[in-house]
Amino acid sequence: MNTSYSRIIKNAFEEVKALPDAGELATYIPELANVDPSKLGVHMTCIDGNHFGIGHDLHKFSIQSIAKVLSLTLAYKIVGEPLWERVDVEPSGTKFDSLLLLESYRGIPRNPFINSGAIVICDILMTHLKDTKVEFLEFVRELSDLPELNYSDKIADSEKRTGYRNVALCNFIKSFGNITNEPEEVLDFYFDMCSLEMTCQEVSRTFGFLANEGCKISDGTKIITKNKCKRINALMLTCGFYDESGEFAFRVGLPGKSGVGGGIVALYPKNYAMVVWSPKLNKHGNSYKGMELLEKVTTHSEMSIF
Ligand code: GLU
Repeated sequence: MNTSYSRIIKNAFEEVKALPDAGELATYIPELANVDPSKLGVHMTCIDGNHFGIGHDLHKFSIQSIAKVLSLTLAYKIVGEPLWERVDVEPSGTKFDSLLLLESYRGIPRNPFINSGAIVICDILMTHLKDTKVEFLEFVRELSDLPELNYSDKIADSEKRTGYRNVALCNFIKSFGNITNEPEEVLDFYFDMCSLEMTCQEVSRTFGFLANEGCKISDGTKIITKNKCKRINALMLTCGFYDESGEFAFRVGLPGKSGVGGGIVALYPKNYAMVVWSPKLNKHGNSYKGMELLEKVTTHSEMSIF
């Protein structure tokens, strides 16, 4: 690990820790209301294998939408380019759970990271895999080097009881013919996928392949081609933060993905994968302190993709 990075992260961490508390927990998933809002952790994994973390970077949190990047990776690996006939690659400019644009675009979600797009990706995986839940979990276990990783029933059940908007989204898309499996089963997998719990350290290791041209950092295994890696990174840059994607690119200057559990993963291609976790969210559903911290790191290091 470049020592200046660990110093920059440490300073950014202290500065952000001292900021006045702002934002709200994602209480629409009841189980997430029980999380300690004062948690703050950050971990960077570099492509040379060095890593550095501080704060609550070894506490597990609900990764939520961060998992959508992994389901997209698996679906893209299996289906290839025809995937984009089912889901578009444009920023939506709407909230993560919006139904708005589905009517105008006849059931084709704007991108794979808004809820509607991620639900279509789940449907695609269900069509191509025998046991989707098991095979997706195996894929994430391989990426993360965590053979014991499991879905959290507590979080998944909590969302299954209250996920009315996602139920509406899935049924609405089905009415246009862009969901081929039973909506109930697709949603069941979607909620399980979002329920994974990992630490900042684990998520940064898991996402290392996207900073490393598609190859796992720990053993060099090729997960996806360079070209697919480029495209997933491009989608994270343009669509990873819902209607705040422009703001994130403007302030941080890296591809990334947020989750309503308060985690954010950001990638500096050919350099590192960094994960921040702070549970309180701004009004766009992105971690308030997480964004502040990442902005400080790229500003102080003067290193971003731009
Ligand atoms: N499971 C969450 C939902 O569907 C994911 C949203 C997010 O993390 O942005 O509402």
